[in-house]
Amino acid sequence: MRQRLVAGNWKMHGSLAENARLIEGLAARFPDTSVACAVCPPHVYLADVGRLLHAAELPIALGAQDVSAELQGAYTGEVSVTMLQDLGCEYVIVGHSERRTAEGENDHLVARKFAAARTRMIPILCVGERLAERQEGRQLQVIQRQLEAVVERCGASGVSGAVIAYEPRWAIGTGMTATPDQAQEVHAFIRGHLGQLDAKIADEVRILYGGSVNAGNAAQLFAMPDVDGGLIGGASLKAEEFLAILAAAGR
Ligand code: PEP
Repeated sequence: MRQRLVAGNWKMHGSLAENARLIEGLAARFPDTSVACAVCPPHVYLADVGRLLHAAELPIALGAQDVSAELQGAYTGEVSVTMLQDLGCEYVIVGHSERRTAEGENDHLVARKFAAARTRMIPILCVGERLAERQEGRQLQVIQRQLEAVVERCGASGVSGAVIAYEPRWAIGTGMTATPDQAQEVHAFIRGHLGQLDAKIADEVRILYGGSVNAGNAAQLFAMPDVDGGLIGGASLKAEEFLAILAAAGR
């Protein structure tokens, strides 16, 4: 059975003091759960958040929000996968829609980042369509293109052990969540598509849903057979809300 995962993407939020308060809130009520949990703070806070999680003995893994496609060298401002590993990261998000949109990351660059990430940690590959693409009924086509870019670069075996997050762009930070059926349709498509390449890898890959998940809608989304947890943005900044989502992912 696939172990569920709930990962918090803190985006460009927080401060040393706010992060400490958030972790204190998580530690106060962290449940005994079989669900894997991770938080992805901004790069500059990774070391400190890692230290706080360790001190609080919390079973929460550390993840980064982005990684360079390059492994080392003259790339000002970039952060490599070995640096993230040095700080204790187990996960790294690649291809988040905010980076695809605001930073102009295309499928090719995302695939390069994925390839770099998987050498040392578990990539969380984000895929998702824009609102217009869904309105035109092209969501599966878009997801297939984004997935294929990674498979072409890394092969189906490259996806083994990775996490895929279906995050419809129109649902991120908007309060507009995909319905459980809409999420299930895409998750089943992703699994089916990978299944044509390798049935075992497809069966084992964890597919998270992300896009305005909150304590009120999480249980219905997580009840769908191909939804293996969530990538949580805004709601991961509130300890109570994030813990409620984690509880909803428990079977
Ligand atoms: C995200 O940032 O990955 C995300 C899903 O954000 P939100 O939950 O705020 O929509």
